[in-house]
Amino acid sequence: MKIEDAIIVLKESVTILSRANGKTILKDAIDIAIEALEKQIAKKPRENSRKVIAGIDGANCGLCGGLIFNPSKYCNRCGQKLIWGNEE
Ligand SMILES: [Zn+2]
Repeated sequence: MKIEDAIIVLKESVTILSRANGKTILKDAIDIAIEALEKQIAKKPRENSRKVIAGIDGANCGLCGGLIFNPSKYCNRCGQKLIWGNEE
């Protein structure tokens, strides 16, 4: 199962739990799991945010806007997985 498919299944289970009107602790846990999984889907830096800082290729995280440096695989601030376009 791909991460994207797991997110869809978890989101649907939250909808079912909401309809059942209960299990809020489980719903909270599923929401946290979805957020963590979504960060594992690599995101590009914010558009037009690439810049050289002290000779290092940097940019802003596509999720939180924090400063990130190429070739970091994850944002130090929010944990978002990164894709720079130079991976291949
Ligand atoms: Zn971030």
